[in-house]
Amino acid sequence: MTNNDTQQTNSAFPHLLAPLDLGFTTLANRTLMGSMHTGLEEEKGGFDKLAAFYEARAKGGVGLIVTGGISPNARGRLTPLGCELSKFWHVNKHKKITRAVHQYPTKICLQLLHAGRYSYHPFSFAPSKVKSPINPFTPSAMSVRQIKGTIRDFAHSASLAQKAGYDGVEIMGSEGYLINQFSCVRVNKRTDEWGGSVENRMRLAIDIVKAVRAKVGEKFIIIFRQSMLDLVDGGNSWQDVVTMTKAVEAAGATLINTGIGWHEARVPTISTSVPRAAFTWITEKMKQEVSIPLVTTNRINTPEVAEEVLSRGHADVVSMARPFLADAEFVKKAIENKSDEINTCIACNQACLDHVFQQKRASCLVNPTACYETELTFEKAKRNKRIAVVGAGPAGLAFSVYAAQRGHKVEIFDRASEIGGQFNFAKQVPGKEEFYETIRYFNKQISLLDIKVHLSTEATVDDLTNSGFDEIVIATGILPRKLDIKGIEHEKVKSYLDVLRDKQPIGKNVAIIGAGGIGFDVAVFLAEEHEKSPLVNDKAQWLKNWGVDQNYQNNGALLDKSTGANIEKTPRNIHLLQRKSTKVGKGLGKTTGWIHRATLHKNGVKMLAGVSYKKIDDNGLTIEIDGKEQVLAVDHVIICAGQESQRGLYHQLEKSKGAEQGLHLIGGAKVAAELDAKRAIRQAAELAAII
Ligand code: FAD
Ligand code: NAP
Ligand code: SF4
Repeated sequence: MTNNDTQQTNSAFPHLLAPLDLGFTTLANRTLMGSMHTGLEEEKGGFDKLAAFYEARAKGGVGLIVTGGISPNARGRLTPLGCELSKFWHVNKHKKITRAVHQYPTKICLQLLHAGRYSYHPFSFAPSKVKSPINPFTPSAMSVRQIKGTIRDFAHSASLAQKAGYDGVEIMGSEGYLINQFSCVRVNKRTDEWGGSVENRMRLAIDIVKAVRAKVGEKFIIIFRQSMLDLVDGGNSWQDVVTMTKAVEAAGATLINTGIGWHEARVPTISTSVPRAAFTWITEKMKQEVSIPLVTTNRINTPEVAEEVLSRGHADVVSMARPFLADAEFVKKAIENKSDEINTCIACNQACLDHVFQQKRASCLVNPTACYETELTFEKAKRNKRIAVVGAGPAGLAFSVYAAQRGHKVEIFDRASEIGGQFNFAKQVPGKEEFYETIRYFNKQISLLDIKVHLSTEATVDDLTNSGFDEIVIATGILPRKLDIKGIEHEKVKSYLDVLRDKQPIGKNVAIIGAGGIGFDVAVFLAEEHEKSPLVNDKAQWLKNWGVDQNYQNNGALLDKSTGANIEKTPRNIHLLQRKSTKVGKGLGKTTGWIHRATLHKNGVKMLAGVSYKKIDDNGLTIEIDGKEQVLAVDHVIICAGQESQRGLYHQLEKSKGAEQGLHLIGGAKVAAELDAKRAIRQAAELAAII
């Protein structure tokens, strides 16, 4: 940081908020909003919504935005109808985005992404005919003519981006996409000048950067997203990565962004259980090798963490993607020293990545307005009403905050002694500590919006009908489902609330009935209860547990299988059971289910499907699988068998003659089946927008 850059020294975040002079242009601060495909790119009329989405983040003060990946040609599209920028008539719709963003001092770069063998269509190609484990389509091997044509397409697409008003492009060279497929022997089996030595394997990347630079001139940002950790067998050595990054710099890149792990890597890189800033050490290592500014990334979700990373000299810029879905005003709040008002991304992936992988529009669990900026809005209310909300879980809290923002006078009642509902149990689970942040956010908003909260208060029909409320919102959530198994009253039987809320002592041998999200969480809680310190605080240990080699001895930065990932198994003997005969955990999140399963496997948890429950007695739990009975000799049986709506109060109010107010039901109290916080919060927001 130079003297000129220290104009923000009054701030709590002087490094984060310092401008960055790139020679021909200056970034207002060190925040980069990382590339995120939203699904709006392919929706009819989606570019108007996309422009509003990016505009909100520019207005919120982001230094540099990188758009979702756009293919330079048809074969590089991620999906058959995926977005590409290759024709003159594609330019106009992009102008909507650049004009919207350039009302503010924010810069915006278009990401050029050729998916290679990750293209989800039969016309995909790659350096060699090697199928990806995460795509059913086998790519064809590219001819030299196709390679050269692709380089021209990148350059042409970059020139169209320039015409559309973008400040630059990001060339996607990581995460296992085409350029990364060329750079690693995992997919590149070629014996011509495009395969073999690192010089040959990186030729595509370097020729693309050179061709783009030649086409767009000197005053256009080129970011190259370099795969610094491939995290797969057949990935690059550190020496290869350094050789390539230096060549990218020499070829004319302005900034180097950090890429962590191929999509097919079996190391979690962004899920909530990944410790914050777990991978910035690799960007720091690269800083000793190149002189252009470096961007670091992955699991940085607060200004405090970003500031620490920059102040330690790990990078020059911090890329955050999902945190800007969760709160468009992240930077503005940091500038105003109000970071405690930020709605923090809890890294759940539930409404963003999981949606994208299901070809649905992305949004955010904690911020349902993300990507719905023109559709879900909170105008000032024509008449300010007095509203009673019963239940301070995610549904009740989200409703209260949005309704209060519209000018309504809101009072919340909860029988518990703290707000948060079931999030207070979720946050106890090792690796889900981020859930504390959502409760912190709501607490802060409650005080800012002057919402009255009555804790340890069982709301009664009388209170609600005789206190002058115009509207009553019931958000009383759920109750754990009671099961009808012989011996269910036995003292061995516990509910997940006994474990997570009441911290009752649990024995060494445990059976968990129900393998949904909560069954998995309880299994992790019990498996990792013996850990002295939460893994979240020990990044080095966490990386080792997942087989990442910080010394980079092997290609791909994976520990040797014989030495690595030898985590201490739980001393508990845990069985996780379900009646369905499908794979246990199949219904978990698309992008996170495998992590939960792998965590339990590492801990030696036995997962059984196709189970019928016969009885519980002093001997343990008797089950039957495939017609064969067996006794699991367990100390405790924990019931995690789903939930049922709790709406006794709602029915009483419906029947009450005094209840002339509007009566509404949201969240788990409305429908318990398949309820998660994403649905609860969106439902609450939609009601608050119209009440
Ligand atoms: P609740 O959170 O159940 O809140 C209801 C509130 O109403 C409670 O605070 C209760 O005390 C209060 N109440 C009830 N009756 C009365 C009354 N008569 N008077 C006063 N107060 C009353 N969801 C996800 O999306 N992702 C996850 O990763 C996730 N993990 C979870 C992990 C665990 C261990 C658990 C238990 C749940 C998890 N969930 C997760 C589910 C998520 O927490 C729920 O879907 C969400 O909390 C439902 O919100 P709600 O507001 O409808 O109900
Ligand atoms: P759930 O996901 O619906 O799982 C309930 C489990 O109980 C299932 O495995 C089901 O499997 C079993 N079950 C249902 N009825 C039963 C019965 N009568 N007898 C025996 N077993 C029965 O519900 P949950 O685990 O309670 O989670 C509640 C919500 O919180 C979910 O919607 C989930 O999305 C959310 N959540 C999400 C996460 C996350 O990481 N995203 C984590 C925790 C919770 P069988 O019917 O096959 O036995
Ligand atoms: Fe973050 Fe979850 Fe929102 Fe995605 S859905 S941005 S992971 S809080």
